[in-house]
Amino acid sequence: YETFFFCLRAPFPRNMIENSMFEEEPDVVDLAKETPVYPLDPDEVVYEPRSSRLLVRGLGENDLEEEEEDYESSARLLGMSFMNRSSNLRNTSSPYTRQAPSGFCSMPSPRALVIGVFVLVLAASIAMVVYFLPRCTFTKDGCHQANSSAEVIYPKSSTGELFPWTEMRLPMSVHPLRYDLLLHPNLTTMTFQGSVSITVTAEKETKVVVLHSTDMRIIKTSFQGKELKTLEYKPWQQIAIQLEEELRPGQQYIFTLDYSANLSSSYDGFYNSSYTDTAGIKRVLAATQFEPLAARKAFPCFDEPAFKATFSIKIKREDGYISLSNMRKSKTTPLASGLFQDEFETSVNMSTYLVAFIVANMSSVGRNVSETQVSVYAVPDKKDQTLYALDAAVKLLAFYNTFFGIKYPLSKLDLVAIPDFLAGAMENWGLITFREATLLIGNHSSTLDKQLVTSVIAHELAHQWFGNLVTMKWWNDLWLNEGFATYMQYMSIGKVFPELEIGNEFLSTRFQALAKDSLNSSHAVSAVANTPEQVAEMFDSVSYEKGASILVMLNSALPDGNFQKGIIAYLNKYKWSNAVNQDLWSTMSSVTSQSFDVVQMMSTWTLQKGFPLVTVTRDGPRVKLSQEQFLLAAEQPPDIDRHLWQIPLTYINNSCSNSSACKNLFILKEKTGKLQIAASVKWLKFNYKNEGFYVVDYGVDGWKTLIDALRNDVNVLLPEDRAVLINNIFALSRLGKVSFRQVLNLLDYISNETEAAPITEALVQLEDIYRLLDKRQDLGLVARMETYITDHFGTLMDSQSWEMETSVSKQTLRSALLETSCRLGRQNCRDKAMKLFNQWENSNGTKQIPGDLMRAVFSVAAQSDSGWKTLLSSYKMSLHDSEKRRMLEALASTPDVRKIVILHAGLQGSDIQTPELPRIVRAVCQNFGGYLFAWDFVKQNWIQFPIGSFSLQSIIMSTTSQFSTQLHLDEVRDFFSTLKDGSSQMRVVDEAMETIKLNLRWMEKNVETLRRWL
Ligand SMILES: [Zn+2]
Repeated sequence: YETFFFCLRAPFPRNMIENSMFEEEPDVVDLAKETPVYPLDPDEVVYEPRSSRLLVRGLGENDLEEEEEDYESSARLLGMSFMNRSSNLRNTSSPYTRQAPSGFCSMPSPRALVIGVFVLVLAASIAMVVYFLPRCTFTKDGCHQANSSAEVIYPKSSTGELFPWTEMRLPMSVHPLRYDLLLHPNLTTMTFQGSVSITVTAEKETKVVVLHSTDMRIIKTSFQGKELKTLEYKPWQQIAIQLEEELRPGQQYIFTLDYSANLSSSYDGFYNSSYTDTAGIKRVLAATQFEPLAARKAFPCFDEPAFKATFSIKIKREDGYISLSNMRKSKTTPLASGLFQDEFETSVNMSTYLVAFIVANMSSVGRNVSETQVSVYAVPDKKDQTLYALDAAVKLLAFYNTFFGIKYPLSKLDLVAIPDFLAGAMENWGLITFREATLLIGNHSSTLDKQLVTSVIAHELAHQWFGNLVTMKWWNDLWLNEGFATYMQYMSIGKVFPELEIGNEFLSTRFQALAKDSLNSSHAVSAVANTPEQVAEMFDSVSYEKGASILVMLNSALPDGNFQKGIIAYLNKYKWSNAVNQDLWSTMSSVTSQSFDVVQMMSTWTLQKGFPLVTVTRDGPRVKLSQEQFLLAAEQPPDIDRHLWQIPLTYINNSCSNSSACKNLFILKEKTGKLQIAASVKWLKFNYKNEGFYVVDYGVDGWKTLIDALRNDVNVLLPEDRAVLINNIFALSRLGKVSFRQVLNLLDYISNETEAAPITEALVQLEDIYRLLDKRQDLGLVARMETYITDHFGTLMDSQSWEMETSVSKQTLRSALLETSCRLGRQNCRDKAMKLFNQWENSNGTKQIPGDLMRAVFSVAAQSDSGWKTLLSSYKMSLHDSEKRRMLEALASTPDVRKIVILHAGLQGSDIQTPELPRIVRAVCQNFGGYLFAWDFVKQNWIQFPIGSFSLQSIIMSTTSQFSTQLHLDEVRDFFSTLKDGSSQMRVVDEAMETIKLNLRWMEKNVETLRRWL
């Protein structure tokens, strides 16, 4: 699925380097300085939890008392202890953790056996060696035993009988060919009845068919006119159909399963969603979200991406609703019961996670692109906001049809805005689902909103090729889907919508990927993903943004046009099928002309985590280059020296620096390398436009020549390259390679800077530090930092216009500057913001606030009691999602702790829809008074999002990444160590701990420098 913390974030300046990775949409921070500690009137806080949606720490009732003692806090005093703790949603959603705690090596005997068979039968040895062996090598115990023991131990099924399969992955003995699925959702009882007939072909003799199914009641399993017994093993979400006679290889068989289930209330599977329309009537609908592992919640199936099959779907619905699925509807039959049955054409061959269906009351607009009918659907109240998306989708589809040289293969493509949707968007083949905010554009929307919507559409459309047509074999290579879709989204927008100026956004996205990948908690692009939690965690910045970044790097190292040629060849070779990492590089290599080995080079970027720091030392015409891992770690791991990358280094110099024609290429394959340049060259700048995925240190002299050059004339480098220097020098300061004094030296040129990319990068970095100081309540330094920012950016802040502005880069620039300015409390900014707010309020909504300024304006307004109340009532009334989000962020940025009850509104999902909770938490955390409070809230309610999900990742990083004291480090560690639901195994927990340690270390090292130099 599209987490779209990435895409949602897209058009906005980056947030704090550590915590922005998982966020949906960072903004530049709340710098509110007040630290109110109001005694709270408990009567003001009255809420009833929506119990079905609550997911609390997986603790037994008895454990709770003790746990709660530990987490007693101000949040508790607010009356939050009512939170429902009985939900077992998490129990069911994360069974693997308890059963098989540490992945591959944890259940040695049966796995070893099965793997042996697997390797022989499939000859998938390359993948096995690459992905599985290293894991064992680095694991202390288990693997050796695995090899010596071959005894199979079957688990017990839910009825107590032995379950005839011992692997989390399904057996390869049968393959599905076709599913005939009939569904009848009941939107009154929130249940559904289903019947699925699965045609399979046997690959070898077997008396058991194992497939996925979870949270459903199997009523009857039929095979060749007989009823068969079905066993269930819940922890692995599998069922096994036991046969009396063996299936014969090469033969086809049909199994039919009748079942019933509840419509899910957790945003995955076949789930129910609701919204209130303009008439105040509550409306319900049912929709699906299957990626990665939830198709099995809607129908029994072989729920792994390599099991492609065709799907023929029928849906029974009431009058007054429509139903949609991947394919075009072929007919509708009225039934005796008064219901209608819609039947859809048989699908193309596809993976289960791409199947989708919706039953809802929706309106649409449509247009044709060659043979494809493109439609955009929304709830009737919002039909007028669908036209922009239709236009964007039509243009992008035409572009991709040409670019890939393979036509989109279905006769229709629907884009649907779902009112209550957790992911950002989901690329279901032919039926792409979106949040309303990522698809709808109203007359309140700014160009930045259009940039967001266009990005998400471009990303999802790219998936119709990368992901749908060619699918990764397994989730470990998720980046083949997500890295490519992310790359294509920026590339296509650059070509089709140049006015959206997407380049800066992509640059800042790649900076974020570097930040995330510099931590020891990062992982290789192609990484082990066995348990459902590990699969969920693959949807992160590494798969998306680093994946896209290394594609940019490869593209820039290849002769023009070769990259496109390579991906077309890859798509043609693997279409309708599955691929692994290696397949991509081999295909690329075979069709492109290059001076280096693509497979070897790119493997160093996909199979090991992290990225290199390249150090440049110059002695006249001789340039010495060396590489080491750029690793921000509280403790250096012992194997750090082992990492080596094949780096396509690019560089420019003072005689030619402003176009790609100036770019030179040098492949650094070894630890060190040498380069000859003319002795007359004054300065060198590496990593042209940050097309490479590495950081460069020029040494004291090298930095000095670059800084001098910029002070003389900022235009000696492109704005992107100036932003890269700013980004790299802050990164090096974090690493301890350059002093903070040098950082400030570079920033001295910034008073001559007027471009969005370098300015926003500098602000992001400075505010990062500012916020840490603020949270430490180091008031003296906070004041000096404010003065520093004002001295360097004040003139530019004051010269920004508050009128409507069409240029994207100007919007980006001014929104970053003005939000900072207002947060710093600069009177000029606050006055102008309040003036706009008052005009807007008094005009009854007819006088608009420019979309890019809403955040600044609303945040200032929300500081006052009356402004806050106005925003809250406007929030409830507004039909425009982009406007609503700005309001919500402003509401959550209040310095008044009493108003942070808004967190609970988000948790309940009544006035504020639950998927917005991560956004609220983040906004609260950026406020000084709020951030400790939010941490308490998280501990108390140990939120309802599934383990590993991006929402939970975002919430954890928002709440913890601004800690920089030992006390907080201990507290966070203690909290996670007490969790018994497997969530402490999450990668993001490591990331959170590491980030706090690094903050702590940075502060210890640099506070004195700051005192001296600021
Ligand atoms: Zn995607």
